[in-house]
Amino acid sequence: MSQEHGTDHSTAGLSAEQIGRNDSIFRQANERIDKVAEAGEFEGVAPFLCECADMRCHEVVFLTLAEYAEVRMGPRLFLNVTGHEASSQGWAQVIESHGAYVVVKKIGPAGEVAEQLEGSSDPETATVVIDQRYRRDPA
Ligand SMILES: [Zn+2]
Repeated sequence: MSQEHGTDHSTAGLSAEQIGRNDSIFRQANERIDKVAEAGEFEGVAPFLCECADMRCHEVVFLTLAEYAEVRMGPRLFLNVTGHEASSQGWAQVIESHGAYVVVKKIGPAGEVAEQLEGSSDPETATVVIDQRYRRDPA
């Protein structure tokens, strides 16, 4: 189904670098939501965006701030609506399942990009360096 978001079809042809960037753009948006939530805008849970590799995905998952903080424990960790890890084209490993959402770890070049873009004010265009040994397709 080409209309569906967060699938392997929806991101077919995207490079690992772009996948890492897309995740990082969602991460930046979620960090803003987190700041608003910390300021007391939400009761208990806050709506966070799915951080999958599909920029057209606008699905929301409700997490407590503590749950969100756990996702942010590592620079390669991202929050995905369950199933949307498929949009990472093999560059994500599910490390935790929580029903509606999973925590994925970005691997390979997508992981490197995600790590370098952590905290970047402009994850869309910031320069990243990708190790040459990753210049091949995922297994
Ligand atoms: Zn998604």
